[in-house]
Amino acid sequence: MRIAMIGTGYVGLVSGACFSEFGTDVVCVDKDSSKIDRLLAGEIPIFEPGLDKLVANNVAAGRLSFTTDLATAVKGADAVFIAVGTPSRAGDGQADLTFVRQAAKEVAEVMEGYTVVVTKSTVPVGTGREVAEIIRATRPDADFDVASNPEFLREGAAINDFMRPDRVVIGTLEPRAQEVLRELYRPLYLIETPIIFTQLETSELIKYSANAFLAVKITFINEIADLCEKVGADVHDVAKGIGLDGRIGRKFLHPGPGYGGSCFPKDTTALAHTAREKGSPVRIVETVVDINDKRKKGMADKVIAHCGGSLEGKKVAVLGLTFKPNTDDMRDAPSIDIVPALRAAGAAVSVYDPEGIEEAKKVISDVTWCENAYDTMPDADVLVIITEWNEFRGLDLGRVKSLMKAPSMVDLRNIYNPAEMANAGFDYESVGRPSGL
Ligand code: NAD
Repeated sequence: MRIAMIGTGYVGLVSGACFSEFGTDVVCVDKDSSKIDRLLAGEIPIFEPGLDKLVANNVAAGRLSFTTDLATAVKGADAVFIAVGTPSRAGDGQADLTFVRQAAKEVAEVMEGYTVVVTKSTVPVGTGREVAEIIRATRPDADFDVASNPEFLREGAAINDFMRPDRVVIGTLEPRAQEVLRELYRPLYLIETPIIFTQLETSELIKYSANAFLAVKITFINEIADLCEKVGADVHDVAKGIGLDGRIGRKFLHPGPGYGGSCFPKDTTALAHTAREKGSPVRIVETVVDINDKRKKGMADKVIAHCGGSLEGKKVAVLGLTFKPNTDDMRDAPSIDIVPALRAAGAAVSVYDPEGIEEAKKVISDVTWCENAYDTMPDADVLVIITEWNEFRGLDLGRVKSLMKAPSMVDLRNIYNPAEMANAGFDYESVGRPSGL
């Protein structure tokens, strides 16, 4: 089997490397020549744990290669995966399909023999049919099928997620296309991964429904956390108490500053847009989008209130900027709302993130960039944890205290224990838990 992976971002590069690890020949294409140059030089353009080794091993084995030349990759491939970005369109929140359409056309121009064109990008219902139309219009003689194969991996745990997924969803009812994709995913069958074969539209909707449901779940516990703060309850115990009910489940019940990242924000808005357009609005998702936007913006107010109502002339130390740990991805990260709001409130802000500084500098300015966690702290009035990187979980609290003006912490990820922080002398605040005093 030979496949082409169009788009060498978080999804394309991980999927391409994992398929090659399963023994498939994979050529990864990107039109961003700087990305391909780095990959050809043995560098990984993103931060994803374990990816460097996986890529190096498969390049060395001759199963994985990189090019900017789409034709070389696509000609003779059994399947071509479109894994390009589908960002939110400015203004209406609809998914921007420019890259998908362009990739479909470029693939159509050069494909040879029977080819399965697979949309791995997250795309609105109807996009697969549109991709088929583009290919047919570009190459009326082409022998192909279009399938949808949405990706569910999470950045930071992407390799394990790809190799041990909860399920694989394949949207095509064409037996030839099903056969190619079944063959590609056969190594997963061996560990009994459920594979759902369904039609294109259903597959496309499964991806959006999954992300929207998870966003609803996060937002639900965030609102319950706010209520806990008002009534003196502990949201962690509430989460455990409801999550142990098998119908609810324990995952995704961790409160925080609001969801961010490259998927939930854009996918919830895109689903809401599609649903409105079809006259069947998903009001719960629309509400979640609104609540989450406001929540991210409101997190700075929590810090201000913690500091007695004003940050004027104060110094805030911020730990963690990426939307989650173990990635350098800054797309729609809560820090993008929180840090400028702290600045606007009059604070000087020092920030540190283990892997995200380079990306963060593109979207956050007017702060002091630090080399490590402790460098943010000298004379700080408050320490704010925005992203729960492991290295922030076990800070030397004595050292923190000695560096800061006063021991004060707003922990937006609840990685510390309120009672222990009170014992350590911190004025500590977290999300949805009593202070521990
Ligand atoms: P990304 O922006 O990291 O990567 C996309 C890549 O595609 C870029 O490198 C870009 O240069 C390249 N590209 C665009 N048009 C091209 C073309 N015509 N030819 C060659 N290369 C082209 O995006 P990503 O995070 O990997 O996401 C890709 C898709 O997967 C999106 O639809 C996203 O919603 C979905 N998805 C992402 C994740 C995630 O965690 N990032 C998880 C599941 C699904």
